[in-house]
Amino acid sequence: MITVKSAAEIELMARAAEVVVDALREARRRVEPGVTTAALDGAVRRAIEAAGARPAFLGYRGFPASTCISLNEEVVHGIPSPERTVEAGDVVSIDVGVELEGYFADAAFTFALGDDGLALLAGGRRCLEAALARCRAGARLGDVSHAIERTAAANGFQVIREYVGHGIGTRMHEEPQVPNFGPAGKGPKLVPGMTLALEPMVVEGDWHTKVAGDEWTVVTKDGGLSAHFEHTVVVTENEPRVLTAGWEEFA
Ligand code: MG
Repeated sequence: MITVKSAAEIELMARAAEVVVDALREARRRVEPGVTTAALDGAVRRAIEAAGARPAFLGYRGFPASTCISLNEEVVHGIPSPERTVEAGDVVSIDVGVELEGYFADAAFTFALGDDGLALLAGGRRCLEAALARCRAGARLGDVSHAIERTAAANGFQVIREYVGHGIGTRMHEEPQVPNFGPAGKGPKLVPGMTLALEPMVVEGDWHTKVAGDEWTVVTKDGGLSAHFEHTVVVTENEPRVLTAGWEEFA
């Protein structure tokens, strides 16, 4: 069932979202060649806990960290490690989820430490913008999905098909699933108060993925670069309210 949130519930999600954006900012400002992904994860965890919130990814189905940090051909769910350093030229995705007073928010962005992947990043951002533009009361969920797929294709990229966006609220993953592909005009009708995590994942090459030996990290099968952009939003009669707005400025 797709739940519609009350104004009070949406304000709680907005508070969780503010913590997500602050934690993403803390991670981003620490990124430089040689930093370990575990150090970035530690900064995220401290920021979340200092705000009186809980890192939603930590312990989720056994995930061992507060942050998913996915480099280069890694799509999502990269596990931070003291053995793993970010290097010049890397394409870095950082994904953070927070629970505050029983409500969740989730956001992610990708950036480059060099010239590799810049067109992919621009294309991925356009996919999220296209999703936001279609996400309003009266539209069908498929309109959002289709806009993402079409925008990726128009920029010369494919979307990941095996992982999707989702409803969010009192749980991190609620109905509906929000694919980044599919026909317009299909799926549930959007109504004000629905809360969704829109998260296009786009790749330079082919969309097929596999899970790495750590049983979490999703990588492209062909080794091509991948990018991920995510906002938690509320459906309204007009443009969606973007609860996790702000990372665009420091991503
Ligand atoms: Mg998500």
